[in-house]
Amino acid sequence: MERFDLVIIGAGPGGYVAAIRAGQLGLKTALVEKESKLGGTCLRVGCIPSKALLESSELYHQATHRLSEHGIQADGLRFDLPTMLERKTRIVDELTAGIKVLMKKNKAIVFAGTGRLAGDGKVVVSQEGEETTLQADAVLLATGSVPVELPNLPFDGQHIVSSTEALAFETVPKHLVVIGGGAIGLELGSVWGRLGAKVTVIEMMPRIAPFADSQASQILARTLKQQGLDIRVNTKLLGAKVTTDGVQVSVEDVKGKTEELTADKLLVAVGRRPFSTGLGLDEVGVHRDEKGRVEVNERFQTSVPGVYAIGDLVRGPMLAHKAEEEGVAVAEVLAGKPGHVNYEAIPNVIYTDPELAQVGLTEDEAKAAGHTVKAGKFFFKSNGRAKTMDATDGFAKVVADAETDKVLGVHIVGPHASELIAEAVLGAEFQASAEDIGRTTHAHPTLSEVLKEAALAVDKRAIHG
Ligand code: FAD
Repeated sequence: MERFDLVIIGAGPGGYVAAIRAGQLGLKTALVEKESKLGGTCLRVGCIPSKALLESSELYHQATHRLSEHGIQADGLRFDLPTMLERKTRIVDELTAGIKVLMKKNKAIVFAGTGRLAGDGKVVVSQEGEETTLQADAVLLATGSVPVELPNLPFDGQHIVSSTEALAFETVPKHLVVIGGGAIGLELGSVWGRLGAKVTVIEMMPRIAPFADSQASQILARTLKQQGLDIRVNTKLLGAKVTTDGVQVSVEDVKGKTEELTADKLLVAVGRRPFSTGLGLDEVGVHRDEKGRVEVNERFQTSVPGVYAIGDLVRGPMLAHKAEEEGVAVAEVLAGKPGHVNYEAIPNVIYTDPELAQVGLTEDEAKAAGHTVKAGKFFFKSNGRAKTMDATDGFAKVVADAETDKVLGVHIVGPHASELIAEAVLGAEFQASAEDIGRTTHAHPTLSEVLKEAALAVDKRAIHG
């Protein structure tokens, strides 16, 4: 039986990053993965393929709707969906193959198959009827999550689908109904909307992106509606029936008014749940909470000594970069170092147009946490670079503590918000004050000046607003 310092089950951003860091720290590491490609949900059917399609569909949308303003005429434009999908697949293939190379470089041994705990540091890997048992000083569970199905509405892969199928529709749906106005629903709704589908987004809450700053969420909703998305908030799904050529969807608004929507695809994007089927958790006594998440302490230890867990399988936001940071931290803990994740500095992004990005607390959350709050806001329409890009929707908002000036949260809705938020995350790591950001020189003209101005606006001294 082969012996390892660490056996990791699951090769998503949590597991494969843990394997790399463990290798760097000299731990003899095995990585067990049941799918043929490494990289997990994120690389195979999540972050990467969705961003590939967002990029292609955005280019098409820009070309068909925005080029003429620049004096560029591009008549007769059309897109070729198979080529678009092939490009997405190629990117996924290249990146997942790259993870294999990284495993080799960091001396992690990859075992293809399904892993399960067998007690006393043993992991059994099953592949096509064959079983291999590995012995480990520590086992790391990084088995991620899967899409949530609605009660009485199982995915059929054809009409009632999850994000996985919605990343690979072979034709553009005539009418796509999306249940859930969170990141995945809005991103995939945008992709197919830009390519010509009628898209209806059904959200039970009073606003889309319910986690976000309320004004940022309003601006996002307004802009997406201008792009053609039919967004229904305060609306719930009553049921859906598959017909010969599509699906009949019944919804009800907050006033009790019901409506029947005829769609050819129903995308259920209401969240994801931790995945631990077949892992043997109950057999060895690994505790889970009421949401099925494996319970861990701040050192990622589960209730069973020697068994650790990270990523979507445990508490916290279901985000690739959160899983990655936990992967690094747990490897460091196992190597006797003080591995640590700063959960106050984890950005959250929706990659629509405009993008929405945030880190830290909203104004309401900061008040609820007992802070006296002051906030500064600056709009992209007053930013020179945004004007030259014709991308003036949105703003940056800095939420600070009124007494200490410490930045508690940053909220950006606008062009390249996903990139701009990095500065705010760095600020959060360094416990920056609004004044620190406001006094930092930002290149001109750049979109990043919006964040500087919002930080200055906290003290009512924005220069251009
Ligand atoms: P996963 O990536 O889910 O990996 C778990 C791995 O474990 C899988 O490969 C699985 O096959 C394997 N596995 C499970 N059980 C076993 C077993 N018993 N034996 C062997 N292997 C097993 N996050 C972002 O931060 N940014 C984004 O832009 C973003 N976009 C997304 C878009 C979509 C459409 C989706 C669905 C998700 C997106 N996410 C995004 C979320 C992100 O993909 C997850 O948060 C991230 O993948 C979690 O990483 P993980 O390592 O915990 O788990």
